[in-house]
Amino acid sequence: MTLRPSPISATVDFDADGVQHGFLKLPISTDISAWGAIMIPITVVKNGEGPTALLTGGNHGDEYEGITSLLKLANALTAEEVSGRVIIVPCMNTPAVMAGTRTSPMDKGNLNRSFPGDPNGSVTLQIADYFTRVLVPMSDVVLDLHSGGRTLDILPFGASHVLDDKAQQQAALEGAKAFGAPYAMVMFELDAEKLFDTACERQGKVFVATELGGGGTSTPQSMAITERGVRNFLIHYGLIAGEVEIPESGQIYLDMPDASCYVQSQHSGVLELCVALGDAVTKGQVLAYIFDMTRTGSEPVAYRAERDGILMARRAPALVNMGDTIAVIADVVDRLEA
Ligand SMILES: [Zn+2]
Repeated sequence: MTLRPSPISATVDFDADGVQHGFLKLPISTDISAWGAIMIPITVVKNGEGPTALLTGGNHGDEYEGITSLLKLANALTAEEVSGRVIIVPCMNTPAVMAGTRTSPMDKGNLNRSFPGDPNGSVTLQIADYFTRVLVPMSDVVLDLHSGGRTLDILPFGASHVLDDKAQQQAALEGAKAFGAPYAMVMFELDAEKLFDTACERQGKVFVATELGGGGTSTPQSMAITERGVRNFLIHYGLIAGEVEIPESGQIYLDMPDASCYVQSQHSGVLELCVALGDAVTKGQVLAYIFDMTRTGSEPVAYRAERDGILMARRAPALVNMGDTIAVIADVVDRLEA
């Protein structure tokens, strides 16, 4: 079965040199806009021949380091700086970004669980489909900027995956390191099937993701890491001139070998994390307590590390429900001195 073309149309010309600010227009028909459109902002900066980099933020609508840094880059990047083409989409899931939520208020769609997408599906599936069939095929390298959002806080890292194609895996790992965050990671995903990552990797593209903080906001520190990282990424793949800058503190390389890295709650209550992000933990050590809020006199439940490593991510809100990830532990595999 052949799919119909995407219903999304672009107001920019992807083949034109110069800087263009425009939109990806997705037709909608709602109670408040009968002949309306979702307007996804896009910037294309092109200068002659060369590789194409696709830079994306707002895949989840409450992850602000990527959204903010790409809005800034779109305003700052000039065609003279670029060799090739840089496509910038700061707010991939625009309805979610406008609502300040992880998922879309229009269809509850989680964009990063919607790939490869469907041109006949809900709006979130239609957005995913446009990326899969239009923007990713025209790209050589893809950088998708995530952070923890409102419910997680995560160490800043560039990430790649274990792939069947070892040359593709190595190119992505080198990009994840060159992003120049304090950490770089080979990531184990709980369910990779419907990720943007997987849609890009299956097309043979070099794909780098990030996690860069969280808690539903950005900080001066996380913004500095993100902005330097985006420029490092473009430098590393030859899109702009310059030298990749690695942090003065060096870099720590992390690995997540399997699902035992994730500590998920089997209780509801108030969470007390006993270790801070970046702290070393040993197998059996108490990571967190969960307290029953409904009565006094009951002992809290202790959650212990099932492996050695460092605390890579934590739940941000103190209120926790059964099934929530409360902590993630990663292995330290190497350190790069600055
Ligand atoms: Zn995300």
